[in-house]
Amino acid sequence: DLVHDVALQNSKLQFFTNISHELRTPLTLLIAKIDAYVNESQPGSSLQRKLKGLGENASHLLELVNELLDFRKIDQGFIHLKVSEYDMVAFARKIFESFEEYAESKHIKYTFTSSHPSIPCWFDSKQMEKVIYNLLSNAFKYVRKENGEVGLQVLSENEHLYLKVWDNGTGISQKDIPHIFDRFYQAENDISRVASSPGTGIGLALVKDIVQLHHGEVKAESSEGYGSVFIVELPKGKDLYKEDEIQNQPTPPMEIPVLHPSSTVDPEDIVPLEKSDHSRYTILLVEDNEELLLTLQELFQKSYHVILARDGKEGLGKVREMKPDLIVSDIMMPVMNGYEAAKMIRSLDREDAKVIPIIAMTANAFTEDKMRAKEAGMDEHIAKPVDGKLLVKVINELVKRDQR
Ligand code: ADP
Repeated sequence: DLVHDVALQNSKLQFFTNISHELRTPLTLLIAKIDAYVNESQPGSSLQRKLKGLGENASHLLELVNELLDFRKIDQGFIHLKVSEYDMVAFARKIFESFEEYAESKHIKYTFTSSHPSIPCWFDSKQMEKVIYNLLSNAFKYVRKENGEVGLQVLSENEHLYLKVWDNGTGISQKDIPHIFDRFYQAENDISRVASSPGTGIGLALVKDIVQLHHGEVKAESSEGYGSVFIVELPKGKDLYKEDEIQNQPTPPMEIPVLHPSSTVDPEDIVPLEKSDHSRYTILLVEDNEELLLTLQELFQKSYHVILARDGKEGLGKVREMKPDLIVSDIMMPVMNGYEAAKMIRSLDREDAKVIPIIAMTANAFTEDKMRAKEAGMDEHIAKPVDGKLLVKVINELVKRDQR
């Protein structure tokens, strides 16, 4: 009966609130410890990468715990959206990547695809992260153990954007599908697994609330025993949002530190650089993150003539007019990305443009990105957050090679 249901829901919420409080302190301590180890370990080493992965996941856990605490707010309509325009492809890919190591360790085939290289869309990045994160977590939870496959796809169609998350797992029975988005609902398929990974029945309810706040819809399709696909449909534009929900200055989707925390560069490390005719070398920095752009400018301007560009197209323009000796370029940028810009530079009808060293900076160092950078004609590749020492070393070597 209804009264009993409400009382039960309230006591469950109270329970989550209490548990969340209890979990926060040890998690915070854990994160601080991991951070300390990250700083002590060799920059760029595989140990440091692993520790960082550990730290990221611990931070995420803390966020989830905080989210449980926030749950009442959504419940009572207290969540206030702050939508800005982001590239959903880059955004979704970033979240996708946080599961990559896990997928690998479980031998799950894990793929990311998109209909376009970038899809601008208005949304609240903090809330949308929870949507994608929850759907992916579920997919990994229910995917089959042998030959498992999980995928994330971003599609753009007219005014709408679709996010699809699928897995070839247990699936959901037709009778459960209408209820899985209800709070605390757990389908039969969950029962057998309760021991290994007890759920809360909160994830999908949260997903649905957030998607609805974004004037979108979420639905599930499934064939029992074969798998499930969750489809989120969102309007791409900002027309449906209230004025006080729109934030024209976007908050960075996820806080990626722009420079490696432990990479304080001694300006003395930078080779004093003069060409044979005693003029200075010119470095072109192409980066859409203003903070990183200015940090790099500051780093190099003592030894080089530095020029700046804020997207690939601007970078290409600067190459046309100023003939830089070396280019350091971001990959994910609005208007024209780093790969496209590098290809265009290489195809300019000018001898220097064919050989000028181009260093790519990308959000991750996966082989695929390295290959794409090579294919686009880029010479070197360094991962973000940028390790300043490493960048300086790479640049010094490239310039010394030229001086010989
Ligand atoms: P839980 O914490 O139990 O996972 P959710 O709200 O995220 O809570 O999901 C509700 C229920 O929907 C789950 O208990 C599970 O039965 C079902 N479900 C969600 N995602 C999947 C999936 N990818 N495959 C099969 N069942 C799923």
